[in-house]
Amino acid sequence: MNATLPARDGMAVDPRPPIDWAAVRAQFPILSRTVHGKPLVYLDSANTGQKPQAVIDAVAEFSARHNANVSRAVHALGSEATEAYEGARTTLARFLNVHRDELVLCSGTTFALNLVAYSWALPRLKPGDAIVLTRMEHHANIVPWQIVAERTGATIKVAELTPEGELDLDGLWQLLTPEVRLLAFAHVSNVLGTVNPVREICREAAKRGIVTVVDGSQAVPHRAVDVAALGCDFYAFTGHKMCGPTGTGGLWGRRELLAQMPPFLGGGEMIREVRFEGTVFNEPPMRFEAGTPNIAGHVGLGAAAEWLAALGMAKVEAREQQLLEHATAALSAIPGLRILGSAREKAAVISFAIEGAHAHDLATLLDLEGIAVRSGQHCAHPLLAWFGVPATCRASFAFYNTEAEIDALVAALHKVRGLLL
Ligand SMILES: *Cc1c(COP(=O)(O)O)cnc(C)c1O
Repeated sequence: MNATLPARDGMAVDPRPPIDWAAVRAQFPILSRTVHGKPLVYLDSANTGQKPQAVIDAVAEFSARHNANVSRAVHALGSEATEAYEGARTTLARFLNVHRDELVLCSGTTFALNLVAYSWALPRLKPGDAIVLTRMEHHANIVPWQIVAERTGATIKVAELTPEGELDLDGLWQLLTPEVRLLAFAHVSNVLGTVNPVREICREAAKRGIVTVVDGSQAVPHRAVDVAALGCDFYAFTGHKMCGPTGTGGLWGRRELLAQMPPFLGGGEMIREVRFEGTVFNEPPMRFEAGTPNIAGHVGLGAAAEWLAALGMAKVEAREQQLLEHATAALSAIPGLRILGSAREKAAVISFAIEGAHAHDLATLLDLEGIAVRSGQHCAHPLLAWFGVPATCRASFAFYNTEAEIDALVAALHKVRGLLL
């Protein structure tokens, strides 16, 4: 826990020495490898994050010493595995400030959003109802709602953006008419980095009885997220972007809503009693965790949350803001380079296009320099179409990146720009 002392001016002062970010970075073994004979410069953390040794060790230790199935065996390994898996749930619940029995563990945001779509929305929505999404959503927060709309006869309305890539809030309020049942939106955009005012949006939705679903994929890895304080009804997140293994993540849901939801998948673990005449379902969150879960993965995710909490999410956010400032200034100086999105509150994600150069060509040439950026549409076709660009390169930063890596990106861009134009 952070030991903080109140200072005379009311600001909290952290008595610990400042973080040695080079030492933190050194805990990520992959960051010291080379690519095409050059030191790896990994600038794709919005796509998936890298793992510190502590997380790698937690997964290995579980597999080497405690592996068994959860909740089904009374033998020693069975109880150790159950304890480790449920311990991870407790750690994650604490990390997000939610109750552990309201936290469904699953394979990530995509599963979490589909769970809300199939279990909450599908049985409830009817013709005449509406779902509101925003222009900046990831496909994972669009397609499940389209499936729901198609099957129920509900319609989808889209909240638009300002030219800076912020949500047009006045426009959003106007969309929240009486037929709207559900509002689903990203906490932080994976393309623009825009941080949305979640509390304000959820407050306005709640006043109108609209259920809110927040996609926290890009928020939880980069800032302290107090889910209880946000006032949303559902919050989805993914493990592999927050230093955890792939195939992990979760859905937090308000107890009353989870309690009313039928299971999404049927199988073992989610039932209390099965007879061919009928089955009694387990309570949440077990009701939504059919089959053998990714036990080792979630043990790793629990270790990741613990590791991040010890580092301090406020420090992570502050460090990434430094990197964002450095990168924004340096990239803006490249002739013909356009950055998409300049929200006042922005996470460390920079999508850019260079006039006359294809994003894929840029990314391919950068890869030859050892620099990993993502190119394409970043699972957000409607957003890219709105900006009128076919594709962008996206450099996304984490606290383990360095100013020197950003300088390497900028130098490489000058070089490849010369090759392409
Ligand atoms: C990565 C991401 C997703 C999908 O996460 P998965 O881990 O693939 O399920 C959804 N929304 C946003 C904003 C993302 O960045």
